[in-house]
Amino acid sequence: MSSHYAKPLARLVGEFEKLPGVGPKSAQRLAFHILRIPEDEARALATAIVDVRANIKYCRICANFTDQDICAICSDTRRDQSIMCIVAEPRDVIAMDKTNEFRGVYHVLQGVISPMDGVGPDRLRIRELQDRLAGGVVKEVVLATNPTVEGDTTAMYLAYNVIKPLNPEIKITRLAHGMPIGGDLDYADQATLISALEWRREVK
Ligand SMILES: [Zn+2]
Repeated sequence: MSSHYAKPLARLVGEFEKLPGVGPKSAQRLAFHILRIPEDEARALATAIVDVRANIKYCRICANFTDQDICAICSDTRRDQSIMCIVAEPRDVIAMDKTNEFRGVYHVLQGVISPMDGVGPDRLRIRELQDRLAGGVVKEVVLATNPTVEGDTTAMYLAYNVIKPLNPEIKITRLAHGMPIGGDLDYADQATLISALEWRREVK
């Protein structure tokens, strides 16, 4: 934070600099932009930030983000409850659901296993997953973690240490490759995601 700015401005620049992918230059540009827009627009932005933090929580069933107790997908009775897509992050639900190709339900792990970052299975939403699968409604689980080392490790852990021991009858599939290696689900275009889903392979 630089003392070249008036204090409130320095504070805003400092806050912007904390955001991912925003360096000092962009932080300055954003802060000056805020000073130029009408006051009600600036207020709307500030309110939206406060509001999202106050009202968005985890869905009680799938751990996706929602402003309700149960998210819109979990409460949609037209969705196929027998097929569940397991993803790492809420943004992956959006990527997958935008394809309109998957009409089942989701489970969000809220991360992937990453020993380097000290993230073990206990930090993920696995107990909730076990509870859901124990219900016996789910017949197929699609492992849709990213094709990265962590994503693959997590998928294999779920397949062999969680799902198979719980119920060997559940069919386990993994999204087909063709997705950019090391790439993110939410960077893949829709056609790629649709074919990755269509050509998903069974994890034996
Ligand atoms: Zn949900």
